[in-house]
Amino acid sequence: RKAVIARDLQRLNPMQRKAAMTTEGPLLLLAGAGSGKTTVLIQRVYTLLTYGRGSDSEEVPEWAEEEDIHFLEAFPDRPTDLELDRAHRLCAVDVPRPWEIIAITFTNKAAGELKERLAARLGPMANDVWASTFHSACVRILRRDIDRIGFDKDFTIYDTDDAKRVIKDIVKEQNLDEKAFQPKSVLAAISHAKDQYETPEDFARRCETENDWKKSRIAKIYAAYQKKLMTANALDFDDIIFHTVTLLQREPEVLRYYQNKFRYVLVDEYQDTNHLQYLLTSLLAGGYRNLCVVGDDDQSIYRFRGANIENILSFEQQYPDARVIRLEQNYRSTQNILDAANAVIQNNVGRKGKTLWTDNGGGEVVTVKTSFNEGDEANFVVGDILMGVNRGRRFRDTAVLYRMNAQSNALEYAMKRNGIPYRVVGGMKFFDRAEVKDVLAYLCVLNNPLDDLRLRRIINNPARGIGATTMDKVAVLAESQGASLYEIIRNADLFPDLKSASVKLLKFADLIDGLRRQGAELALPEFYDVVCDQTGYVRALEEKNDMESRGRIENVQELKSNILGFLEQDPEDATLSGFLNEIALYTDLDSVEAGDDCVTMMTIHSAKGLEFPTVYVVGMEEGIFPGASAQYDQEELEEERRLCYVAMTRAKEKLTLTNARQRMLYGRTSANRPSRFLEEIPEDNMRWEGKPEPRFGGMEATFGGDRWEGGASGGYGAPSTARSGVWVRSQRAQTLSRGSGAAPMLQLNQGDMVEHTAFGKGMVLSVRPMGGDALLEVAFDQMGTKKLMLKSAGNHLK
Ligand code: ATP
Ligand code: MG
Repeated sequence: RKAVIARDLQRLNPMQRKAAMTTEGPLLLLAGAGSGKTTVLIQRVYTLLTYGRGSDSEEVPEWAEEEDIHFLEAFPDRPTDLELDRAHRLCAVDVPRPWEIIAITFTNKAAGELKERLAARLGPMANDVWASTFHSACVRILRRDIDRIGFDKDFTIYDTDDAKRVIKDIVKEQNLDEKAFQPKSVLAAISHAKDQYETPEDFARRCETENDWKKSRIAKIYAAYQKKLMTANALDFDDIIFHTVTLLQREPEVLRYYQNKFRYVLVDEYQDTNHLQYLLTSLLAGGYRNLCVVGDDDQSIYRFRGANIENILSFEQQYPDARVIRLEQNYRSTQNILDAANAVIQNNVGRKGKTLWTDNGGGEVVTVKTSFNEGDEANFVVGDILMGVNRGRRFRDTAVLYRMNAQSNALEYAMKRNGIPYRVVGGMKFFDRAEVKDVLAYLCVLNNPLDDLRLRRIINNPARGIGATTMDKVAVLAESQGASLYEIIRNADLFPDLKSASVKLLKFADLIDGLRRQGAELALPEFYDVVCDQTGYVRALEEKNDMESRGRIENVQELKSNILGFLEQDPEDATLSGFLNEIALYTDLDSVEAGDDCVTMMTIHSAKGLEFPTVYVVGMEEGIFPGASAQYDQEELEEERRLCYVAMTRAKEKLTLTNARQRMLYGRTSANRPSRFLEEIPEDNMRWEGKPEPRFGGMEATFGGDRWEGGASGGYGAPSTARSGVWVRSQRAQTLSRGSGAAPMLQLNQGDMVEHTAFGKGMVLSVRPMGGDALLEVAFDQMGTKKLMLKSAGNHLK
C-alpha cells in the first residue's frame, strides 16, 4: 500500500502530500498562488476514492503476502473495480463512495475541469462525485426537498432581468418614486442582505434601529419581492443558496440526510466565499466534520460581492481542531515573476504574510512597456504575440488580461487586423454587444434608410409605442407596394391600415430625416453625439440608471473611439458610409476561425485559478488599475492590489505589463500616470521599456477627445517632440498606418508569395482595396487561409 500511495503521490511535495492524505477532520490549506492548492484538492478526492480514509497511515497490513505487495507495487493507473477492491481489502480501509464526496469550486469552468481531471484518472465513477459550484449543488439539493419550505419542486429560476422586472412592479404598486428606487440598486441591496442571510424581517429590524427611511422602504420591497417570488414558485440566484440554508436549518431530517451523505466536503477558492456560502459549507460539513477548505487570502477579489476574507482567517477559531497546512513552493511561475508579484502584494497591510519561492529558475524578467496610447499598446501586444508565435509559441499559450471589459476594444481591433485568432471569455466581443449593434443600426439607417433589417432593430428602441403588430402591418404594405419599410413609414398617413399608428410612425420618419440633414453638415464625431442624443437611445439608458445601463452607455461612448480612430487613419474618407464600410469589414474579418489555438482575452476576475505560459496585463495606469475609486479608499486599493497579484501570478514563463501615457476610453482621452503597482516591482525583476520621465505629471488630465491642445503645458511632462495637439493626432495616425508610415507599404498582388513572421509562407489569394488600406486574403502553408489588413500586417510580412 505504501508503494501504491507513494507512486501515486510522487509528484507532490511532502506538504502537498500531507494535505492530500490528511483526509479526516477539518483542514485549512492556506497557500499562495500556483502552489498547487487546486492540484491537492483534486488529488485528495482521488486519494479518498482510491485508498479511503486515514490514508496518512502508510502501513501495509502485517498479513499481506509477498504477492499482495507485488500487486500493490504494480498497481495500475486506472484500476478495474476488481483491482480496486483487492487493494482496498489489502489496505483494510474504509473507502467512501463517489457520491459521498462534494467538491465545490467557484466557477463552472473550474468545476468542469475538476470533473474532467477526475474522470481521466478514475473513469466513469468520477461522475458521481458532486463536483460543482455552490449554485448547482444547491439547485440539486432544492430539487429534492424544496417542497418542505413551501415551494414546488419544479420551481423556476429568475435571472437578473426577471428579478428587476418584479422589483419594478413592486415599486409601482407601493407608489414609490421609480427614480429613487431603481430596480438595480434595490436588487443590489436585497442581494447584499441575502449574502448576510438576512430575511426581510431581519432586514426591517435592522433598518428600524438604524432609522433609515429609504432602507425601511427597501425592506418593504424586499418582503413583497420574496412574497411574489414565492407565489410565482420562483427563486432568484441568491435565493438558491439562501433557501438551501433555510431548508437545512429548518428541516432536521434533510440536514441529517446531507450530513450523513457528505462524508467529505471540499471547497476551493474559500477566500471568496460570503457569509451565506460560509453557512452552507458549515452545515454540509457539520456531520463528519471532514471539511477541507483551500484558499489564499492574497487572492480575495470579490469583496464587492460580499466575500469575506474572515471566513478563511477565522477557520481555526471555528474548528479548534483544524489542521493548517501551508504551501510555499510555487510550481507555476519563474522566480522573476514570483518576486515581482510578491513585492507588489507586500504593500498590503491587512494580510497574513507569506512568501513564495520556486525552483523553476529565474526566467525572463518581467517586461513593462509604456506606449504612447491605447492603439500603440494594442499593436505592441499583438506584435509581441506574433513574435512569440514565430519562435514556436502557440496562440493558446497566451492570455491578455484587463481590468474592465471595455478595454478589450482596442485589443480586439488590433487582433482582427492582424488575423490573430482570439476569444473573449466571459464578456462579449465588443461588436457583438447589443448596444453597440443598436447604435450601429441607427447609423446604418441614417446612411441608408432602406436598410429594413436595421430599421426594424431600432424603430422601437427606445420605446416609441411602435409595436410588433404595427410593424407587421408596415411589412405587409411594403411587400405589396414593393417598397421599403421606411418608405411606407414616411407615408404612413396614406394607408388606412396604419391610421392609428401614423402619428408615431411619421414622428419617427421625421427623426430620421432630421438627423440625415444634420449628418450632411456635421463632422462625424459631432454627428455621432447628436445621434446618440436625439434618438433618445442614451437617455433611455440613463433613465434606467443601473450598473448594467451605465456599462452600456460606456460602450456606446467607446464606439466613438472607433470613429475618432477611423478619422485619424483616413481623414479623406471621413464619411459615415466610409466608417460603416470599415466596420463592416471589421466584422467580416471576424470570420477568422477561432479554433482551439487562439489567444484568450478576459478580465482579471475571470482569470482566477487559471494559468498561461505568456500573460499580458494591459492598462496598468492610475485611474484604470487601480481604478479611480481606489485612490482615496485604502480597502479598495488593497483589493485592487490583490487583483494585480492574481493577474501577475497567472503567468508561467513570460509576464508583460503595459501602460499607455494617454488613453482613449469611452471616447474620451486622458493622460494617466503609470500604475503604482508598476513602481512596486523591484528593478532587478523587470525591464521597463519607454519608462516616462519622473517629471511625468502628478495630475490626471482629461481632454476633449477630438482635439487636444495640451502639449507641453498640460502637466504632461511632454516628450520633446510634443509641441501641440497636432503631434498627437499625427502620431496616432502613424501608428495606425505603420505599414505606410514607418515602413514602406508593400505592393502586393494576387498570386504573390509572402512570408509572415508568425504564420509562415503563403500565397496571396486576393487584395481588396478598402479605404486607405487593403484587405488581404492569404493562403498560408501551415495556418490555412487568413484575412489580414495590409497596413497592420505589413510589419510582419516580407
Ligand atoms: P491558484 O492560487 O492560482 O488557484 P493553485 O495553488 O491552485 O493556484 P495549481 O493550479 O493547483 O495551484 O497548480 C499550479 C501549477 O503547478 C499547475 O500547473 C500544477 O500542475 C503545478 N504543480 C502543482 N504541484 C506540483 C508539484 N508538486 N510538482 C510539479 N508541479 C506541480
Ligand atoms: Mg487554484
